[in-house]
Amino acid sequence: MEHQTEILKNCPVCGSIKLQKAFKTKDYFLTQEEFGICMCKKCGFHFTNPRPTKEALSPYYKSEEYISHSNSNQGLFGFLYQQVRNYTLGKKYELVSNIKKDGESILDIGCATGQFLNEFKKRGWNCTGIEPDEEARSFAKSNYDLKVFGEEKLEELASDSFDVISMWHVLEHVSDLQKRVAELKRLIKANGTLFIALPNLDSWDAHHYEKFWAGLDVPRHLHHFKKENVELLFEKHGFKMHKIVPMKFDSYYVSLLSEKYKKNPLHLFSAFFKGAYSNFKARKNPPNHSSLLYILKPKVV
Ligand SMILES: [Zn+2]
Repeated sequence: MEHQTEILKNCPVCGSIKLQKAFKTKDYFLTQEEFGICMCKKCGFHFTNPRPTKEALSPYYKSEEYISHSNSNQGLFGFLYQQVRNYTLGKKYELVSNIKKDGESILDIGCATGQFLNEFKKRGWNCTGIEPDEEARSFAKSNYDLKVFGEEKLEELASDSFDVISMWHVLEHVSDLQKRVAELKRLIKANGTLFIALPNLDSWDAHHYEKFWAGLDVPRHLHHFKKENVELLFEKHGFKMHKIVPMKFDSYYVSLLSEKYKKNPLHLFSAFFKGAYSNFKARKNPPNHSSLLYILKPKVV
């Protein structure tokens, strides 16, 4: 694939110029192209570097199999994925509404086809979605009658207008972290809550699979977070960590993809045990699962 790349000279989290090459991995999911992962010597953050420019990234999302945007029910894997997703949709709604009991307005950034937002719409919340993919956007509009806009709309939304802002496995795709987190701070109400779900580079499965770890998903994932990176990034923009919650299904899905990338013929079998083992090893305080949900609030000034 022909593409334009850019090289970052500064750490996207702390700004340091002290960077070093960490390891190489591939786009196992789609193009099999190789990409390097860089590490900041100051704060330990890992990121894809060099990386395709924003414009050059879109072909990497063009896949029939890009399941997070697909609603097809094909095959056993697709069926199981749908079942888990329906279950987790309910769980996600419960979690958010329990923490933000008095909430009325929600912004979901990277809302895909809008299922999660629709759970809130059904209960009378004022819902807004942001989604770069046009097809997903029109699905959300026509099937759930949701207000969903392209990314460019984000800066036009009114300040202090949301009780909840959620990003489910989205921030790792966003090219300008500082700008985005500053935008979140502008949009959230002073007593509002952020829900940010991310793969965890420090999880057991990340260490176990190394370059084959599906949570790396280069070059679509530009940023590879550990807990301390998330804390530092959001701290800089006036947020404090309220709670970290495990996302226990992700270890199975990530292990399944990782086993496939390793071409293990027993991938279903291995993925089940490794997914379970990863969850077992992650039972700490704070948790250290394959994916984590970070719940953050603006600091009181
Ligand atoms: Zn850094």
